[in-house]
Order: sequence, then structure tokens, then C-alpha cells
Amino acid sequence: MTTHIYKGIAIPSLDRATLFDVVVDDGVFTHVDAVPRPRGGGETELWPGYTEAHAHFALPCNWDDSLDSPRITALQYLYHGVTQVVDMFGFPVIADEWEAGRADSPWPYPEVVHCGYAVTAMTDGAGRNGHGVEFPAPVYMLAVESDLEIALRANAERGATFLKAMFTDGTEQPGSPVRFSRLSERILRFTARMAEERGIPAVIDCNTLEETRFAYECGFRLFAHSVRDTELTETDWKEFDGARFVSTLAGLRPMIMSGDDFAAEYSREGFVQTQDPHNLAFVQKIEQPFGIEYGVQETRTAALQDMRRNALAALDRGRLLVGTDSGNLGAYHGYSFLSELELLRGEDPTPDLAFRLREQATVGGRRYFDELAGRPSPEHPISVGQPATFNLHDPASPLSALPETTVVQGVPIDRDAIAAEISALRATDTKGKVIL
Ligand SMILES: [Zn+2]
Repeated sequence: MTTHIYKGIAIPSLDRATLFDVVVDDGVFTHVDAVPRPRGGGETELWPGYTEAHAHFALPCNWDDSLDSPRITALQYLYHGVTQVVDMFGFPVIADEWEAGRADSPWPYPEVVHCGYAVTAMTDGAGRNGHGVEFPAPVYMLAVESDLEIALRANAERGATFLKAMFTDGTEQPGSPVRFSRLSERILRFTARMAEERGIPAVIDCNTLEETRFAYECGFRLFAHSVRDTELTETDWKEFDGARFVSTLAGLRPMIMSGDDFAAEYSREGFVQTQDPHNLAFVQKIEQPFGIEYGVQETRTAALQDMRRNALAALDRGRLLVGTDSGNLGAYHGYSFLSELELLRGEDPTPDLAFRLREQATVGGRRYFDELAGRPSPEHPISVGQPATFNLHDPASPLSALPETTVVQGVPIDRDAIAAEISALRATDTKGKVIL
């Protein structure tokens, strides 16, 4: 039997004022005992592993459009203390390679829950495709109600446990150009109803308030992004009773970043150790943000601010899910999750905000993960009988800092060994890439 003992540590998500002695036997918590000594403040904090609530394993986040092998992606998550990942479409494309990697890995992989392939609209009369068709992962196009049955069955056969519906026409602001076709109201209502009847969680991809309002009215409650074209008012929040939103700031930001912003963003520990180093050379050549080149710098900058405000308002209501949209350009697996926490925190230095963000990114994220997986959630992930999957944090470090220690199902994650393994995978003939 292997035993690890952690004495006098803080577990703020259980009790912010108390210290605990924790014992792990054979990968499971066997003691989580409060000790009769008040917290002084500087003690190491134990938190559940992070849950990434919006990722795409099969999308290329690298600037040369290459897709890292899922063997690397799994290690990128572990390195950053992310132990649960929600894949928001595309996972079946890389599932075999993921399984092969897991079988070979000395470290337990992060847990994944996925939706299979997304459903979207048919091409419309003006020749516009449904959102999702532009990505290198399949989507199902729904023309009539019975098409949904085919999509649900095929996804279930591939291990999907929830549904992802695309419902955005790509407008950034009211009046900006329409880029995608959208599902009809009839199909949208039918999709929400069928998912509800069958107990399949349904997540919908919307951008604007108008789209979010429409989808809510049709029965959707889980939104893959925060509203980006306006700050929600108190009246809006009343209207969106029970709706939850994923933050996804890190996925939007690369479009408006300058060369200096990129240099700063890529300078944290963990970037060179886990990500494709060619990305550094690419961003050095960026003379102006892509937002300026494409004429969307102002709208995207405003969108990022609105998304942050809406995400924090959701946090206040217990309805924020922390996720990045990683897999999109410049939104790196694992690394961008820690960026997301810092972007959400912004200039607000209050310890209470940091506490609530980390709680939502761990305990709240885990509950969401279990819900999407269709399995019961424990009362608290740090309790006797639960797998010992957790991070130890220095309370004085910023939210974007790597955990001091990551343990997955009782196995300590060796960051240096992971970095060496990633480097070895990148040195092979495939350069650690997969072609779909
Ligand atoms: Zn996404």
C-alpha cells in the first residue's frame, strides 16, 4: 500500500478558516480531518484539480495550423493541473490515439467528457453554412426533425454523453455581417425538447444577446460562451433564470493581441515546456493585431470586456463555468486555462474574487463535468473515499501560476518528466503532430 500524508494544509473549498490533515492510501482519500489550529494565512492550499469547461482536442491551436497529438495534449493538461476536460465537439476524431496514449502513459490521463460531433444548420439559400462546417471536425447538419435522431444515435455510439448545438450567425454586434446559417426555430425547439426528454444535457453555442435570448426561449440553459455584444442588465438576468455560461475569454483574446501582448502572454512558466516552440517565432512576426487587419479590433476588444463582465455577473449568481475554447488559434490546452483565470480576475486584487474563481474552476467545474458525464457527483471532491486528484497551491501566487504539486488518482505528476516526454514526442518523425 502507498500512503501519502499532508499535515496542516488548508482546504479553502471545504472551510476557509480551518486546517486539515489529509491521508491518501492507494490513490484514495482515507482521512480529511480538521485540526484544532486556526489558519494563519500562508499555509499551502489543497484544491480539487481544475476542470476545463470548453475545449476542442481536434482543433489546431498552433499558428502553423498543426494539431498536436492527443498524447501531447493530455500531458499539457496534466502539467497545468487540469484533471477534467469537457470537449465541445470533435473528440471522436482523435479518440483512438487518445486511448493508445493513455495505455502507454505512466501518468493517469485527465478525464474527458465529450459530445461527439456538433449539430448545426443546413446551407441556406444565400449559400451560407451552419457554424462548425468551417472546422476540420465533422458536424451534423439538421434539415428536418428526424435528422436529430441520427446525430444522437451516432454520437452515443461514439461515447458522447451530451449534445452540442451551434446557433450563431456569426454577427459580432447588432448590424454586423451575417456569416453563418442558423437552425430554424422549429428545429431548435425540437432539439431542446428531445434532449430534455431523454435526459441528455444540451449545450448551445451563441454569441449575441439576441441569439442567447432566442435559444433560452426555445429551452436551452447551458451556453458555451458568455454573451459578447452587450453587458447583461438585471432584467436580462431575471429573464435568464437558471442559465449557465462558460467564460471563454482566452479563446477570443488572441485576435486583438499585439506582439508585446503575445510576448508577455507566452512568458509564463509552462509555455516552452509544453507548447510547440514554433508559436514563439510566429508571434514575433506579428506587427499589428489581427483585429486591426480584419477591422474587428474595436468590436472584439469591447466583446472581451462584455464577456468578462457577464462572466463575473454569472459568478456572482453561481452560474459561471470556467473554460477557454482551447483548440482555437492561440488558445493552448492547459496553459490557456490558467490565463483564463487571470483574465477573469483582471485588475481586481481582492482575495475573495480569487477564491470564488478558483472554487468555480474546481468544485463548480467538477460538478458540471459529472452532470455532462451523466454520473452522480460527490458531495465534495475532497472527501473520504474519493480519488486523490488535486493541486497544491501557494496562496501568495497569482491565479495564473502553476500549482506547486499536482496529484492525479494518487499519482504525483512529475512536471520535468512530462516536459521531457513532450519534447521527445516533438523530436519524432511526426514532430508530435497528427493529421486528421
Ligand atoms: Zn468552442
